[in-house]
Amino acid sequence: MADVELRELVKTYPGAATRATDDVSLSIADGEFMVLLGPSGCGKTTLLRAVAGLELPDSGQVVIGGRDVTYLEPRHRNLSMVFQSYAVFPHKKVRDNIGFGLKVRGVPAAEVDRKVAWAAEMLQLSDYLDRYPAKLSGGQRQRVAVARAIVVESDVLLMDEPLSNLDALLRLSFRADLKKLVNDLGRTTIYVTHDQIEALSLGDRVAVMREGRVSQVDVPTKVYDDPADEFVGGFLGSPPMNFLSGTVSENGHGLVLDLADQHVPVPRELADYRGRELDLGVRAEALRVLPDGEAPGASLRCTVDVYEPLGSSVLLTTDLAGHRVKIQTPASFRAEPGDELRVELPGEQCRWYDPETKLLLEVS
Ligand code: ATP
Repeated sequence: MADVELRELVKTYPGAATRATDDVSLSIADGEFMVLLGPSGCGKTTLLRAVAGLELPDSGQVVIGGRDVTYLEPRHRNLSMVFQSYAVFPHKKVRDNIGFGLKVRGVPAAEVDRKVAWAAEMLQLSDYLDRYPAKLSGGQRQRVAVARAIVVESDVLLMDEPLSNLDALLRLSFRADLKKLVNDLGRTTIYVTHDQIEALSLGDRVAVMREGRVSQVDVPTKVYDDPADEFVGGFLGSPPMNFLSGTVSENGHGLVLDLADQHVPVPRELADYRGRELDLGVRAEALRVLPDGEAPGASLRCTVDVYEPLGSSVLLTTDLAGHRVKIQTPASFRAEPGDELRVELPGEQCRWYDPETKLLLEVS
């Protein structure tokens, strides 16, 4: 096992106008499950391939277990990798697919058999060892690819969108299996996905990437609750974080954000923004619809545009002072388009962003 250190990694593909990874530094602890999350083209796979040795960076270093491996061949890095496309051998039975990496390393046959049986057991493949991949479901094939990666005693496990070929239900069940498996193995893992739910559910920490750079790296609850910038807030969460822009002024009660004729209290620490624009970020579930007649001072008015029952909750799309605002309510909530509602916005659920830099502003 080993920690992984990426130092100021830069990679530009020939002919590309922009860098695929742009000065990325990231430390992954020994045994940690790190998820690289971001939209298509943000550089996740390039970063993973640089760790694997499949991509040579223009500059920067890849250090695994204290050893600089930047210019080492992939086979000398002691890694195992699971690809999005499974990459299982169609002409080999499941047992031979799983044992392949061990055989090429010259592991004795009895040891290969023992490890294949162990991995098959862990991934519920014991009954399929003598089948060919063509006679497996997509989920089973993906399990074979994972089994093949875990039997090898590598320092680091790399996974590139391993669940993306599975249907939604299978994805959900395999996600939990994978989490348990990686927990049990305790192996350093780097996992690439563009699926934010997957990232939040699996990662010890999540590195959110954008345009070749890391926007934020932190534990899942932190990237969700305190997005470091508006991009992270908008990328994580379903629905994404709501953003409302207004001007800060002072009324009899203190600083407030003016949203048309409505006002949201602004923390004292942001006094520098008096007379200037400020962005408010708030999650859909942080807004509470108030029962008729209950209207505390800090409530806001909005009008329902769309009512979506989602089974376990209801999602409302509303117009709040000219902003499109999503509100998540309990499943029992009933409303119709055109209804006017009052919502409570607790101060501790507000996140404040500079409209120019889009960065989170620290308030206590
Ligand atoms: P996805 O989720 O779509 O796989 P990604 O975040 O993994 O995307 P990368 O595959 O790392 O992104 O690509 C980063 C950037 O580098 C993109 O702009 C992509 O078009 C470019 N790129 C990737 N591979 C190559 C290549 N072999 N040659 C030229 N450009 C490439």
